[in-house]
Amino acid sequence: MRLNGNVVDELNRSIDQLRREFAQRNPLSERAALDARRVLPGGNTRSVLFYEPFPLTILSGKGADITDLDGHSYADFVGEFSAGLYGHSDAVIRKAIIDALDDGTVLAGPNRYEAKFAESLQSRFPSMELLRFCNSGTEANILALVTAQYFTRRRKIMVFEGAYHGGVLVFPIGGSPINVPFDFIVAPYNDGDAAAKLIKENQNDLAAVIVEPILGAGGNLPGTTDFFSALRRETEAVGTLLIFDEVKTSRCGAAGMQGRIGIRPDLTTLGKYLGGGLPIGAFGGRTDIMDHYNPYKPDSLRHAGTFNNNVCTMAAGLAGLTKVFTPERADVFHEESERLRLEFQRIVDLSSVPLCFTGLGSLCTLHLAGTPLQEAADVTPLSRRVGLLFHMYGLLNGVAVAGRGDFYQSLPMTAAHRQAASAVLAAFVGEYGELISSLAEENARALPRSACLQRISTNRQSNA
Ligand SMILES: *Cc1c(COP(=O)(O)O)cnc(C)c1O
Repeated sequence: MRLNGNVVDELNRSIDQLRREFAQRNPLSERAALDARRVLPGGNTRSVLFYEPFPLTILSGKGADITDLDGHSYADFVGEFSAGLYGHSDAVIRKAIIDALDDGTVLAGPNRYEAKFAESLQSRFPSMELLRFCNSGTEANILALVTAQYFTRRRKIMVFEGAYHGGVLVFPIGGSPINVPFDFIVAPYNDGDAAAKLIKENQNDLAAVIVEPILGAGGNLPGTTDFFSALRRETEAVGTLLIFDEVKTSRCGAAGMQGRIGIRPDLTTLGKYLGGGLPIGAFGGRTDIMDHYNPYKPDSLRHAGTFNNNVCTMAAGLAGLTKVFTPERADVFHEESERLRLEFQRIVDLSSVPLCFTGLGSLCTLHLAGTPLQEAADVTPLSRRVGLLFHMYGLLNGVAVAGRGDFYQSLPMTAAHRQAASAVLAAFVGEYGELISSLAEENARALPRSACLQRISTNRQSNA
């Protein structure tokens, strides 16, 4: 055994060692990070992009590759946390933005893109009978929630442990002190019985249940069809609106996760990649709900937003959905990315290293676990630290993943990108396999329940 003393100390030593190499390799990024601290708290204006010792400053991107300030290139599996679906330089999207720019911006009127763009969304997501655009996924979710409160004349909102619906709608275990002050009920993810019970108990006050079809920031944990069926059944029974936050998951095939699982929510929210790399959000659903925003109606609701139909975003989004991420391409991309996720799992299983790649298609996360994960509580702090170890290891070896161990694939990725990621994973497992096995024993003790003990098989389907 290579281990001496506490295995967690060994993990921390390994992370520190990689961080020292990283700092030596990236003097220009370090300088930029130090300068940024004079004006931005900790040099940071977007929390998820921070990691120690300092985040790389990214100079440029092309296709599915990025280059940092010190001149190193990486296969980009951060993929802007799924907003980078089109990669960094898609020719069709670039042209759409430039054409729109050439015709002038801030036009203060309906433009020739927005209705067509909405139409392409409606044809992909039929549950969105009417929809509206806004500027971010956070905004879309806040609007969906207040719309539900208005429509139902109720106040409470049900969310799930580990959920992420935006910067002020985040529900890690332990909560967040800067969430918007709604009256939230927090239920465990993937537990239909628990949710059903809470919905019944709160039926007179519950405006909406909002849920991610895959718990994204919580570790890319897919929900089960049983879970969503229970939510659909119970909300319908008591007149509570069911909101699917598909900000990330709308990329999981032509019709998103609602298409895959065949469940029709009352409202859906979208964002991330939808604007072709520019800021965007959208919310929509049932006509009887959304028609309250119809300005021809007396007493209609006002929904403002200077940039709701920003001409560059509308043009880029429309070109993206109709010319690049077509329904056919969406399905093919989902399958080809799912094959990589299964390949990752095969690599770790072959060496019997207790790592698990949860997710579906182009969204996946590495966890320290020998058994399937179901809910946010299964993702331990120790597992997140193993994600950090891999993150640093990847950056030293030309593969960028998100700091918490998330992989997001993008359309311009080639077999070479995917092979690079597999090779780095195989090398990582070779180098740290023993340490990870010992950590898994430590981790099992930290888990609230070690329910299923069966080994994850390589062809395990994630509740699709
Ligand atoms: C990113 C994300 C949001 C927030 O979108 P922003 O555009 O960053 O505000 C909301 N929900 C989910 C599931 C997300 O992944």
